[in-house]
Amino acid sequence: MALEEYKRKRDFSKTPEPAGKAARSSAPDRFFCVQKHLASHLHYDFRLEHNGVLLSWAVPKGPSLDPKTKRLAMHVEDHPREYGDFEGVIPEGYGAGIVMLWDRGTWMPEAADVDAALKKGDLKFTLNGYKLKGSWVLVRTGGRYPGARSGSDARSWLLIKHRDEWAGDLDITAFAPLSVKSNGDFEDILAEKTPAIWRSNRPAKGGEAGAMLAQIIERAAKLKTERDEEKPQKHETTKKTQPQRSTQAKERDDQKPRKHEATKRNRPRQPAAAAPRSTQRPQRPERKK
Ligand code: MN
Repeated sequence: MALEEYKRKRDFSKTPEPAGKAARSSAPDRFFCVQKHLASHLHYDFRLEHNGVLLSWAVPKGPSLDPKTKRLAMHVEDHPREYGDFEGVIPEGYGAGIVMLWDRGTWMPEAADVDAALKKGDLKFTLNGYKLKGSWVLVRTGGRYPGARSGSDARSWLLIKHRDEWAGDLDITAFAPLSVKSNGDFEDILAEKTPAIWRSNRPAKGGEAGAMLAQIIERAAKLKTERDEEKPQKHETTKKTQPQRSTQAKERDDQKPRKHEATKRNRPRQPAAAAPRSTQRPQRPERKK
């Protein structure tokens, strides 16, 4: 469907999202990403690069590493390739809210003909991201999904982890909740923006996500104030030169892998979301035996 629908839904004079044009990549590695999107509802946008655009599914509960847990994935319009690196605030309009780059890396189809697999509604693939790895399948449910009505939405698919060494009962969305781009949470992403952007373009309130967003905006404003107040004292002590929030976030995430190592075997190796940027390149980590 190329990018017509993507463009139709957006006013690029008002949104910082990339306008995009279909681009063909000569690189053998195909890009994939998952963007955690706090909009009217919190969801995870799962995107696979194919033919110069990002095939996209909105996964309300996010991916699960447990093969028994099938996650509803609504097929949505293709997005431009450069959207896959986007992290930031979407002002009013379609998808208004905050976008976090939650995972990214490369993917490989497990069958040669991706278009045929999509048409068939059964796309098997291997991911090599920071958080998501190994073999997965996206399968179209049609009317077969338990919650579906007759003549149901043809956009309904399921995202399922195949059983392999990267599967497990680890709750990946809770275990690794932060950005792989900035290491931040939603409020950190907001705090990086100038108030003019995120205050004046505040998405409409309402619903659970609206209340959540209002809280996040408040916390982001407080965080930003604290950071601004810290700046003049920057050279007084070494302690004060460290932004408080990111230190806390680092401590929080540093603790999780250790805790987990003590209790789990053969777990997928998770990225340290707060690790130094230089270590966060997509690469195949050594597997635990
Ligand atoms: Mn979305």
